[in-house]
Amino acid sequence: MEDCLFCKMVRGELKPDCVYEDDRVLAFHDINPQAPVHVLVVPKVHIATLNDLEDAHAELVGRLFVAAKRIAGELEIAQPGYRTVLNCNAAAGQTVFHIHLHLLGGRRFSWPPG
Ligand code: AMP
Ligand code: ZN
Repeated sequence: MEDCLFCKMVRGELKPDCVYEDDRVLAFHDINPQAPVHVLVVPKVHIATLNDLEDAHAELVGRLFVAAKRIAGELEIAQPGYRTVLNCNAAAGQTVFHIHLHLLGGRRFSWPPG
């Protein structure tokens, strides 16, 4: 976890542009936004991928979504809507191996995703 980018943010060694923090979750603007609003919602404990989730993480994962919903309201994208994405491993495009929920909004999104 020492070299993990998002663990460094949680420890305060790197200072992202934060939009939300509580005892278990940190959220900040993505450095390379793919939409007018692009926020990453990150658990404060290191979990590398969705494949590493355990039953004990169930509440924590719920907290990621509750935080995303709250941020969406604050950033005024709740209406007309937004997208949440959690990429798992390389084939899905995961590049940072500390799970994070992407919160994307401010434009229309196509389906199916690319
Ligand atoms: P993923 O590809 O799903 O693993 O998402 C990783 C995300 O982290 C990408 O959208 C990157 O733009 C973002 N990212 C990488 N480095 C930083 C950073 N220093 N601050 C904020 N976001 C970052
Ligand atoms: Zn980490």
